[in-house]
Amino acid sequence: MAKIDSNLVQESFIKYVKVNTRSDPQSTDTPTTPGQVELAKLIVNDLHEIGVSNTIFDSKSGYAVASLASNVSEDISAIGYIAHLDTADFNADNISPQIHYNYDGKDVVLNEKKQVILSPKSFPKLKRHIGETLITTDGTTLLGADDKAGIAEIIGMLKYYVDHPYVKHGPVYVAFGPDEEIGKGAKQFPVQLFPTEFAYTLDNGDLGEMRPETFNSFTSRN
Ligand SMILES: [Zn+2]
Repeated sequence: MAKIDSNLVQESFIKYVKVNTRSDPQSTDTPTTPGQVELAKLIVNDLHEIGVSNTIFDSKSGYAVASLASNVSEDISAIGYIAHLDTADFNADNISPQIHYNYDGKDVVLNEKKQVILSPKSFPKLKRHIGETLITTDGTTLLGADDKAGIAEIIGMLKYYVDHPYVKHGPVYVAFGPDEEIGKGAKQFPVQLFPTEFAYTLDNGDLGEMRPETFNSFTSRN
């Protein structure tokens, strides 16, 4: 069985984290920052490029939405996948991703000059990723894996379906939305463009982890 194109996922991820999409709780615009519009449009472009033609940027809500038609004759329910465009309230200027291949389980120097070290002493979970590729910042910004990892995974999934039409699926809807970190994006969700009863949000957590709750990072912070 063919696999998801991990190069595409990594390339998309690196490209998306470089767009500053920090949301702004003070702004009254939708989305609250122009970088989020830039990223949404970039995603729409990329989706067209990989052959997902039914793709739009909804300027009213700030959401990019795409769908794949069912490729089975049975009438089965649609499923949705959602990820957010914005990043948390931390420096996101000039994000410079660093790729560390074949991680050896030791300290990772993010920034020699500023002596920023990513250490398994502080983050014991790092030890679970020995032998894997790590992607980090240069220690001066956030990375934005929350939630550009979610976006890149969804792009990888869509490409997989496009390239492997023998893999059967019902209608698939995906949505990439703004201002999740500040609790504003969900209110704008363009329900009329997303006719699904069920959807998954791809946002953090460990590999293989699934939570049934309706998560809202805004209320859980208060
Ligand atoms: Zn998130």
